[in-house]
Amino acid sequence: MVALHDMKGDARRFMDRCVECENLDALYMLGMVEYFSCNNLATALMCLNRSARLGHIGAYYVVSIILLLSGSDFRQKGVTLLSAMKRSGEYKEKVNFYREKLIKFLRSATRRNPKVLNGRPACCTNVRHRFLASNASSLVGKDEEDYVFCDGCTCDGELAYIFEQICSV
Ligand SMILES: [Zn+2]
Repeated sequence: MVALHDMKGDARRFMDRCVECENLDALYMLGMVEYFSCNNLATALMCLNRSARLGHIGAYYVVSIILLLSGSDFRQKGVTLLSAMKRSGEYKEKVNFYREKLIKFLRSATRRNPKVLNGRPACCTNVRHRFLASNASSLVGKDEEDYVFCDGCTCDGELAYIFEQICSV
């Protein structure tokens, strides 16, 4: 993946044109850069929501992750969105694909929104769920069902996996 954050001149102008033309991938990429590198929540959501509305599943996925990371006012929305995607037969495979893309992006980012890695939020509010899940460092790809009791647990597992992958570099 190109270091989009450092794009200048012609490359940047080309990207801006793609965005103007509502190129789904360009909006999706720019949304990730705006949030994960530049900490511009509003611009990121504008790009990603546009891309998602036009059918980009990756944009939906990234919106749900951003909502989870953006404080308690947004978190429940993120939990609803992400857990619905992960339950859906249609979206499940795509979630796996775009999760790996997000991890790659975050690993290669030269600048990172400090909020992204400082203090992972807890999505599940049930103390017993969290006690049981804390024994499993990563839920994705393991016997997920053993530790997932509610939609919040599902999202905690998702974030745990992403953070683990980024930090293991
Ligand atoms: Zn739970």
